[in-house]
Amino acid sequence: MRVWSRLEWRQQSQLLDERYRLRRLHDGLRVAATSRRDYEPHDVTDDEAAIQADAIEGRLAAVDEALERIDSGGYGICLVCGSGIADERLEALPATALCLSCAG
Ligand SMILES: [Zn+2]
Repeated sequence: MRVWSRLEWRQQSQLLDERYRLRRLHDGLRVAATSRRDYEPHDVTDDEAAIQADAIEGRLAAVDEALERIDSGGYGICLVCGSGIADERLEALPATALCLSCAG
């Protein structure tokens, strides 16, 4: 069994916290979007809460993928160029899958 680095442990706990936070935020937004829709059925596409909830779904997917990469051993490796992602970047953006140059 592969031994996790200290960075991986730390990033996993950060990612789990982030996932919990995003899920709560997401559920709150979906409730807001749904309850407002009952009163303003014509205003669905402009509904800011629904748009924000969609954006959060994207971030949740990125967090889940990062957690999978920690499990499989690919965490911290850029998906585009295959080089290592700097620790500082991972600490700032735990769910990132790209190194600085590929993200830019
Ligand atoms: Zn890269």
